Amino acid sequence: MKFDNVKTPCYICEEKLLENNLKLLDYVQTQSGAKIILALKGFAMWGTFDLLKRYLRGCTASGLHEAILAKEEFAKEVHTYSPAFKEEDIQSIAKISDHIVFNSPNQLFLYKDRVKAINPKISISLRINPEYSESPVDIYNPCGMYSRLGTTLKNFDAEVLNYVDGLNFHALCEQNVEALEKVLEAFEEKFAKYFKNLKYINFGGGHHITKKGYDVEKLIKIIKDFREKYSVDVYLEPGEAVGWETGVLVSSVLDIVHNGMDIAILDTSAEAHMPDTLAMPYRADVRGSAMAGEKKYTYRLGGNTCLAGDIMGDYSFDEPLQIGDKIIFEDQIHYTFVKNTTFNGIKLPSLLIKRKNGTLEIVKEFGYEDYKNRLS
Ligand SMILES: *Cc1c(COP(=O)(O)O)cnc(C)c1O
Repeated sequence: MKFDNVKTPCYICEEKLLENNLKLLDYVQTQSGAKIILALKGFAMWGTFDLLKRYLRGCTASGLHEAILAKEEFAKEVHTYSPAFKEEDIQSIAKISDHIVFNSPNQLFLYKDRVKAINPKISISLRINPEYSESPVDIYNPCGMYSRLGTTLKNFDAEVLNYVDGLNFHALCEQNVEALEKVLEAFEEKFAKYFKNLKYINFGGGHHITKKGYDVEKLIKIIKDFREKYSVDVYLEPGEAVGWETGVLVSSVLDIVHNGMDIAILDTSAEAHMPDTLAMPYRADVRGSAMAGEKKYTYRLGGNTCLAGDIMGDYSFDEPLQIGDKIIFEDQIHYTFVKNTTFNGIKLPSLLIKRKNGTLEIVKEFGYEDYKNRLS
């Protein structure tokens, strides 16, 4: 793709790449019998949902707003989980959700009658903390020390079995099937005795299914075995695996300054537009670049906010950078625009979709109003 004429900063999601991921996920569904839903927390560019809903069963929402989006724009199954539901939201959530997942027996007992009264067909589940995870970093470890996410065996109350149709867990983060195997082992060891009358188990997200090298056949076997062993449906709810490597963030070099090294200032921001690069942290790939010093010309790439730490990292290039050059960050479609902020008044990148027929569509542009409207 040529980026010469695109106005930066912008995210460009490519439908063809998205569909490759969806086809693989659908292969997992058809071979294993699992049902796969999209976690809106990781990817929610609803301009692509016409494509997504041809392959996926629905969405998983983390509260009222995501649930409404799922209902309005995806219009298939809506599963809603929240670490804690609020009184003021519960009625609306119950009305539009097919599944509601409580985080604790306490919340389940508090709301079970009300959600059933509003929506008799709603399916109730409880999120379990299997207390095993190989998550690489603490902020993305739902089963870490003192985690508030999910009910541990110690806090489990068998009384909930009178009200639930299934159980959920979510213990992975960008992980392969071997990590799932270990989590399942811990989960079954602690909770299999309660599976008898359940209709489904939801294995959560974090399955890196669309990453090269992921053992898809093994996942299929694990799901099939699990379904047969316990006579339950299995749900997966990936976010990252849907948006994985489906597009880029395009930015431009605004200026080049020198202070001990060459520093390029871009019209984007690590802090505001690529938050996981600072939070996780990780180094985003830049097209045509290498590690500092590997190619002839090394630059520190920095954002256009006043935060000193708004830095993407040090990258080297074959040619010297020029003002106006495009810098293309790879794989910036998941956990980016769903988390963006207007910190420092910096403009939000536009959202573009490269349709399957090749047209590049600007689906959303942002301006001053988006900044102002959130502040008073
Ligand atoms: C974040 C989250 C997901 C999606 O996780 P990915 O790593 O994006 O696949 C699924 N379920 C729950 C409960 C989550 O919190």
